[in-house]
Amino acid sequence: MIAENLQKVEANMEAACQRAGRNRKDVTLVAVSKTKPVSMLQEAYDCGVRDFGENKVQEIQEKYDQLPKDIRWHMIGHLQRNKVKYIIDKVVMIHSVDSLRLAEEISKEAMKHQLRMPVLLEVNIASEDTKFGMNSLEELTSFLEEASKLPGIRICGLMCVAPYTEKPEENRKFFTLLRHLSVDIKEKNIDNVSMDFLSMGMSGDYQIAIEEGADFVRVGTGIFGERDYSKKQ
Ligand SMILES: *Cc1c(COP(=O)(O)O)cnc(C)c1O
Repeated sequence: MIAENLQKVEANMEAACQRAGRNRKDVTLVAVSKTKPVSMLQEAYDCGVRDFGENKVQEIQEKYDQLPKDIRWHMIGHLQRNKVKYIIDKVVMIHSVDSLRLAEEISKEAMKHQLRMPVLLEVNIASEDTKFGMNSLEELTSFLEEASKLPGIRICGLMCVAPYTEKPEENRKFFTLLRHLSVDIKEKNIDNVSMDFLSMGMSGDYQIAIEEGADFVRVGTGIFGERDYSKKQ
């Protein structure tokens, strides 16, 4: 089932790249494996998937220990400061930086490992009360001016979680907005801040996100099937 799903996602990504005149190689598929058992991740790994997205620190720790070491783990969920230390040497990127205090903690822990962690800023693109992230250019800019001084992080783009919708086309405006924000930020030429990556698009809307310039799409359900949150994790 996972192999078939991956083929479908791959074909959809390829088609979206073609429509947008983009190269498929320039878009990274992050397989969002939260709540799913190691056996399913191994199945995806055997199909060639190397980028996995998780949103819980403990789950990353457990899966990290059990799976091959060439996996690139992406932290995509809300991260508590006191847990940064557990994943700092396990993930390749943190997509969900939503406060200066979190950025400071990531920098501090990264320095202990002599590394510079690539991070994305989470933007609350539809200004939803239920979501994390900053949402105005002013707020993002003042954050960046401070965070760019931190030696242990490398700010390299923006991330958003668009609203849930049955009609993916409705989210196009949010993806366009995120792209415009990254262009506006780039024009400010803040030292140590690059806007190389947009992490946007999930199972329902990744094709639209690719058309609007996504560099990372985060697809869970479309690869692993529906999640069951009733089971204890
Ligand atoms: C769960 C999750 C996804 C994947 O969602 P699907 O709709 O299952 O593809 C993507 N991004 C974030 C931040 C998530 O928490």
